[in-house]
Amino acid sequence: MDICVVGAGVIGLTTALELQKEYRNANITIIADKVLKDTTSDVAAGIFRPGISFSGPTPEITNKWLYDAYHHWDDLRKSSDASQIGVTELSGYIFSSRGKDMVRNHFMEKLCPKYRSVTEEELELCPGDWKYGSFFTTLLTDNSLYLPYALNKFKQQGGIYTQSKLNTFSDLDNKFNVKYDVVVNCTGLGAKYLCNDYKLVPIRGQVFKVNAPWIKMAFFGDYDTYIIPGFRAVTLGGCRNFDSYDETWSKYDGAAIKERCEGMLPSLRKADVVAQRVGLRPHRDPVRVEIEFQTKSDGSHRKIVHNYGHGGYGVLSAPGTSIHAVKLVGDVLKGLDENESDINAALQQLEDTFDTRSEASDTSEKGDSNKNHHNNNDSSMSSVSSGGSSPKAKRRHKSGGESKSSDTNNHASTKNKSRSSASPDAKKQKTEGGSKSGKSYDYMTKLNYLFRDARFYVIKSNNADNVTLSKTKGVWATLPQNEANLNRAFKECRNVLLIFSVKESGKFAGFARMSCESKRGPSVDWVLPPGISAKALGGTFDIDWICKKELSFTCTTHLYNPWNEGKPVKIGRDGQEIEPKVAQELCKLFPEDDSIEMLPILKKSKESGRILREKGIKPVINRRPPMMSRNSSSRGGRDNGRGGSSRMTMRGGRKFMPGRRPMNGGPPFKKPPISPYSRDNRMPGGGKMPRYPSTTAAAEAYVADYMRQMQHHQLPPMPYAPPPGFPQLLEALPPALPRYYDGSLSADYPGSIRPPPPPSFFTTKSSADHRSNDRPTHHRNNDYNNSHRSDKERNSDRIPGQKRKLERSGGSDWNNHRNSDNNKRNYRGRR
Ligand SMILES: Cc1cc2nc3c(=O)[nH]c(=O)nc-3n(C[C@H](O)[C@H](O)[C@H](O)COP(=O)(O)OP(=O)(O)OC[C@H]3O[C@@H](n4cnc5c(N)ncnc54)[C@H](O)[C@@H]3O)c2cc1C
Repeated sequence: MDICVVGAGVIGLTTALELQKEYRNANITIIADKVLKDTTSDVAAGIFRPGISFSGPTPEITNKWLYDAYHHWDDLRKSSDASQIGVTELSGYIFSSRGKDMVRNHFMEKLCPKYRSVTEEELELCPGDWKYGSFFTTLLTDNSLYLPYALNKFKQQGGIYTQSKLNTFSDLDNKFNVKYDVVVNCTGLGAKYLCNDYKLVPIRGQVFKVNAPWIKMAFFGDYDTYIIPGFRAVTLGGCRNFDSYDETWSKYDGAAIKERCEGMLPSLRKADVVAQRVGLRPHRDPVRVEIEFQTKSDGSHRKIVHNYGHGGYGVLSAPGTSIHAVKLVGDVLKGLDENESDINAALQQLEDTFDTRSEASDTSEKGDSNKNHHNNNDSSMSSVSSGGSSPKAKRRHKSGGESKSSDTNNHASTKNKSRSSASPDAKKQKTEGGSKSGKSYDYMTKLNYLFRDARFYVIKSNNADNVTLSKTKGVWATLPQNEANLNRAFKECRNVLLIFSVKESGKFAGFARMSCESKRGPSVDWVLPPGISAKALGGTFDIDWICKKELSFTCTTHLYNPWNEGKPVKIGRDGQEIEPKVAQELCKLFPEDDSIEMLPILKKSKESGRILREKGIKPVINRRPPMMSRNSSSRGGRDNGRGGSSRMTMRGGRKFMPGRRPMNGGPPFKKPPISPYSRDNRMPGGGKMPRYPSTTAAAEAYVADYMRQMQHHQLPPMPYAPPPGFPQLLEALPPALPRYYDGSLSADYPGSIRPPPPPSFFTTKSSADHRSNDRPTHHRNNDYNNSHRSDKERNSDRIPGQKRKLERSGGSDWNNHRNSDNNKRNYRGRR
């Protein structure tokens, strides 16, 4: 058996040693263009201090990697060779003047023998205004010793090291005359090019290695300051430059690092600099440990197990991910990729549950689609339906036939196969731009899988920068009240999908799946309004973006959210839950995002399902949870959160129609099924109208709500008019909404955390001017500005257009409604 490991950093060498343990008789070769001192691994300090940005495909897997890694290093530490291997125990302090969270580390708290808060005296150990601190005992692996030790051991055990650079994996066939049974890819940042992996991002780091044998403990401070003693030198750092490829030494970064480290430990001023090092941490979320089958030009498959993307935590986690990679090698060699077959089986099940054909193509294409669905020979079908998970295919899997099993195992290979061997009909459909190419069908199936037991929430941000940040980092944070709702949903159901929108953008910004409950960790640099601290936020959620593409509101005008009083789905406060069927329609309107790898997300979804089952939790998704929205409790007397208020009938008779497509094309319209969202059914109590005191109040509320939440410079939809046959509706309207400053701060995060207005705000115009001019445009919140400006100011830029429209619609009363609304608001504000 021939196995090739590409890469000789800490990951490649550790994986190679693990492979030798498992496959004593295999021929194992390492191919790498750099080794030892030339690798990023040699730059690292090597301390076991995992950060929040280290993540595997699921929290369970991440925890297992770290557990395995810690115990692997700890076993080596206890061995008689520890001093040659370069592993030791190390204690130290983490200090911060910024926040308690900065000195917490839930991974270390679980794994390390000591992790505790410091005493007041300990806070005085280092100069500086330290307010928070933790003391820990952990492990350190010094790569200046470990890398040579591992390479030597590998060679001694019969391994072969070859120095060479691969431009593509096919170089393995061209340059080396060996047919490897499996290739393990441990190329760190090199995988960005080798695998064309856009998810891999360098995080530049810079360190001094100094001679300071008197430093026996590690010290961490704010702004990435660290002092970590190794076997041969003390590492002083650092910096983190996201997406920087600059491998040259920056004297400015260097000066800043020295100043911060020497500020913490003044004795370092006497330390000689031994080396100045720069390294690019290979960051990927999640770290990629998975199987890929690549189709070669001759139609056979190259079996690759990836193990890369460890960011700033490759040394500490190397044994954990390597053990996992070796297990995957075993799966590949057995001709079985359990994970993939599992997910395919689940997807097949899904296919049986949901009739996705109708979504993939509509009416005119439906006949063909059905035919394809049952015809596995037609390769226009997706990897799901091409037999990958049929019992027959599974038997093929287990029998280990290479080409057959790989066909069914891998989406990429199936996609390739689909491309190359599509039937003439399928090809024709494709070239004609039919919507049911294998890929689009496949995407719908995957989406439907994520819709199982799912709940959906609108996430409104006032700030596009934060959504961009979220798309890069895969995290989100919100105010505590929303956080609690989302955490609860996450605990109770299999999928929690967040549909993002930046206020006043006129579009949705994409959607994502929550992959964990909120947690405390290093803060993210959200763009916060002036005067607001990150402390106002709850913890951080990890999220997996399913689609980072945008969807204009104009495409969603046919969708109304019964759980938000039947308002258009585009309207909703941060944290507003959307009725699942409506939300699913909404998600399906987004264009498919080719840049997203769905499989890991599906796996997480599956894992969540398993956890729920184990805990005996039955997801409750098809009824609205009581009082989910921030304001629901303060809106007593309305429809108690069940939606379907009489307002549904007020919007020119429009109603939700599943399957109806937006104006911008898409499959033809189809007859809407009898829907729970139809006008009558949306009325509370199944059509019985509740009695509400005043039409005026409801009208005020509607306009105010609309103007507050949507573009303030735009008019609301047509005002209320009693629909024919429903005269009683006017009487049945709910009471006025409370204004948001009646209660707590809006739950919008991050852009709309609104500071209370200064007392002089309403009285002097200069303060209003000053405020709005002071703040950068993207920080300004129209809600905020608008609500705290005088009526006159507001009317000056809002009323002309509105007035015209209202006059046209004979709605002169509307000014009165609005003015009375404003008066009430000012009155309440003064209270
Ligand atoms: C300043 C700094 C401090 C750090 N501190 C810590 C720490 O305290 N603790 C910790 O756990 N981690 C730390 N890290 C992170 C750690 O260094 C990395 O996560 C780790 O080195 C990644 O290891 P790797 O083997 O994946 O990558 P690398 O060490 O970069 O090795 C990649 C290997 O692949 C080879 N390769 C790449 N492309 C090709 C190709 N096309 N053909 C052939 N060969 C190829 C390279 O030649 C090399 O041999 C730190 C990193 C930096 C920069």
